[in-house]
Amino acid sequence: MMQVPLAVGSLMEHAERFFPKKEVISQTHDKLHRLRYGEIGQRTRRLMSILNELGIQHGDRVGTLAWNHHRHLEIYFAAPGMGAVLHTINIRLSPEDIIYIINHAEDKILFIDEDILPLIEHIHTHLKTVEAYVVMTDKADLPETTIKPLYSYEELLSTGDPTYHFKTDMDENDAAGLCYTSATTGKPKGVVYSHRAIVLHSLALGLADTAAISESDVSMPVVPQFHVNAWGTPFACTWFGTTQVLPGPRFTPKRLAEFIERFKVTITAGVPTIWLGLLRELEQGSYDTSSLRAVLCGGSAAPLGLIKAFEEKHNIPFYHAYGATETTPLVTLSRLKSYQQNLSKDEKLKERARQGILVPGLQMKVVGDDGEVEWNGKEMGELLLRGPWIASEYYKDNRSADTFKDGWFHTGDVVTVDEEGTIKIVDRTKDLIKSGGEWISSVEIENAIMAHDAVFEASVVAISDDKWQERPIACVVLHEGMEEKLTKEDLLEFLKPQFPKWWLPDDVLFITEIPKSSVGKFLKRELREQIKSQLST
Ligand code: ADP
Repeated sequence: MMQVPLAVGSLMEHAERFFPKKEVISQTHDKLHRLRYGEIGQRTRRLMSILNELGIQHGDRVGTLAWNHHRHLEIYFAAPGMGAVLHTINIRLSPEDIIYIINHAEDKILFIDEDILPLIEHIHTHLKTVEAYVVMTDKADLPETTIKPLYSYEELLSTGDPTYHFKTDMDENDAAGLCYTSATTGKPKGVVYSHRAIVLHSLALGLADTAAISESDVSMPVVPQFHVNAWGTPFACTWFGTTQVLPGPRFTPKRLAEFIERFKVTITAGVPTIWLGLLRELEQGSYDTSSLRAVLCGGSAAPLGLIKAFEEKHNIPFYHAYGATETTPLVTLSRLKSYQQNLSKDEKLKERARQGILVPGLQMKVVGDDGEVEWNGKEMGELLLRGPWIASEYYKDNRSADTFKDGWFHTGDVVTVDEEGTIKIVDRTKDLIKSGGEWISSVEIENAIMAHDAVFEASVVAISDDKWQERPIACVVLHEGMEEKLTKEDLLEFLKPQFPKWWLPDDVLFITEIPKSSVGKFLKRELREQIKSQLST
């Protein structure tokens, strides 16, 4: 067979040629833009020529600090399309982490949204390698600043060459992208994505039994473009000619609900906290969401109650998926097999609340203390992964050796696998609670608590215990108006029939908010600190 390199630039070339009339709808600070792939392709070519003029060379890192919009989409293709590396930076990390990441990646140029400029003004003297800044706006809207050299995106583009060529003959193993983990459990670690990994992962997103993204979809990624490349959806959607709706900066659940109705969104993706917010909005307002054929939920465990509410109250199909920065990210997706359609309603829901089965193209094994565990839905072990879109190391980081061993990525996630091959994430190794020599899954208890009607969100963490080593404590946020209606005793009564006695939390703390990471995951490190100080006072 021919040896044709898999190149990210060729995905945009395909969209330009076969889907020039299909649209990207994009919200920026001040307005809604509607551009066609024909136009987006030309603008991307202009941008490649500008990067070239600014001295960006093969392998150089092009950093972005931006929300989900069309200009960000153009850089997704312009940087790898001319041989450079797209480095999407999480704007919600602390300034210290952002400085660390930019210096570690040695970004040569930074593309930033205008509302990020104050942050850059604050930190730019610490950025050692950045030679130019581009604010993603028109010249007229360029804010006053002392940072130099600084350009307006649209002004640069107006002088770019719309016939510039995508580079598609490079080594497919060359770097196309770079993302850092969202730092839920420690300092961010960099993962380099090859052209080959991104293209193969895009194919996987199109498979009928995974996300089934197609030309006829209208995709609205709510997961940020700075969080594992919005789970790879911009690459796949562009290639397949899917209409994209990019919800822009500082969106609210209201904007999401309005966009779903207005643009007839068919597929959307995000973390559970986003869907909890949208659910609240759908309950308060009146929206037509009948266009939705799939809400993809991942990043942390989707509580069963959340799936149930979307499907039963709103008739919106909800799919639980699992992945990580190191895995580009799609690893598993939960769908029923044809013969599982005969299960009872409750069994089906329980099955679908698990993380699902492995996407074709990847390999997995689950390893416990005594080697590979049985696939019986009971034995727990760490999930190990291999495959063409699984990282083999962290970028310039001495933490690689602990995680990438013997050709496998050690996920740090403890799982069970049942006879069907369906995995269930029990916990992160760092969050499992060890009580009297046995493991308690914090995730399972918190999901059970979140199934209570009065509960908005809940998180369960370990506190140290002289007798048992560790014991679970539940931290619970109630829905508004429920404060007087649910007591600690009520909640423990509610949990009692669902768990062995020794799994029940020793205490229930009612709090106003669970601390969240930069991408909306529960930050258990911080919660543990809060509890410690609360319990010691
Ligand atoms: P960080 O590790 O800093 O949170 P990532 O965004 O890469 O950064 O997170 C990947 C991790 O998120 C996984 O290893 C897993 O622990 C968790 N995760 C992702 N999807 C799910 C899911 N569907 N259910 C439970 N945990 C999940």
